[in-house]
Amino acid sequence: MIVGRAAGLTDTGRRRRQNEDAFVCDPPLFAIADGMGGAQAGELASRLAAAAIEEAAPAVSDEEGVVGVVRAANALIFERSLRDPAVAGMGTTATVALVDEHVGTLTLAHVGDSRAYRYRAATLERLTTDHSLVAELVRSGRLTEAEAAVHPHRSVITRALGTEADVEVDTHTLDVAPGDLVLLCSDGLSAMVRDDEIAGVLEASAGDPHHAAEALIRAANEAGGEDNVTVVLFEIVDGDPAPRVTVAPGEGSRDRLLDPDAETSETVDDVRRHGAGKGSRWPALLLVLALLGIAAFAVWWSLLR
Ligand code: CA
Repeated sequence: MIVGRAAGLTDTGRRRRQNEDAFVCDPPLFAIADGMGGAQAGELASRLAAAAIEEAAPAVSDEEGVVGVVRAANALIFERSLRDPAVAGMGTTATVALVDEHVGTLTLAHVGDSRAYRYRAATLERLTTDHSLVAELVRSGRLTEAEAAVHPHRSVITRALGTEADVEVDTHTLDVAPGDLVLLCSDGLSAMVRDDEIAGVLEASAGDPHHAAEALIRAANEAGGEDNVTVVLFEIVDGDPAPRVTVAPGEGSRDRLLDPDAETSETVDDVRRHGAGKGSRWPALLLVLALLGIAAFAVWWSLLR
């Protein structure tokens, strides 16, 4: 099995002026980060997390690796907030999903209240536990799910990336099979659109990740769009995975190493850089025309004499 079509979309929503969400859609690795903190701090925290995760992606192949990437992103954000008082206290959620196409598993690493879901046989299953105040109150029996959904402090999270030197990361590996859809989203979707409504949208989209992602963002905005909303959605399909490539961190991009077409585009680039492309043909043509003109003039001049 392999990852088929994948889509990542983000929208500011209808109430916020800035978008503090970020995402990574770099098959077979995907991630969502939802930043928090005043001014631009939340935006910076989620961008830093997404960039760190994306950069480490080519070197990550197992649960330990995914957790390592999340903890490295935590350290990066924390150190930045120590150096820069303007962004002190910033943080972000992070939900990372890595598909192992060779063994058919999905590994999740998760901090905060962004979510991962698996949609299989018309059933939507939540794969992550929210690290939020209301989720803890629900777990301890002091709130019902319905009360939590409208609680004024429902966006308060109890665990975040970047607020402390180290972070506890939830991790989980489960199977995936052809026909599955995997959804990652920020609370801008899950707080606005109930799980059964999300399932309805996925059902109506007939498995097309891009259409479904657009429809989910539309649904969140139609329900009020109170927060930034981000959706990463991908399908699992039948197919043979590319051979495993082991890459040291920072050694070029995954796409270039695994995509068979990448070699071709590199060659095309080389031709453009080193050979006579479209741009350099015109001077040569003008030179030929000028020489022909001089030759014609010389013939005409000799005939006149
Ligand atoms: Ca949010």
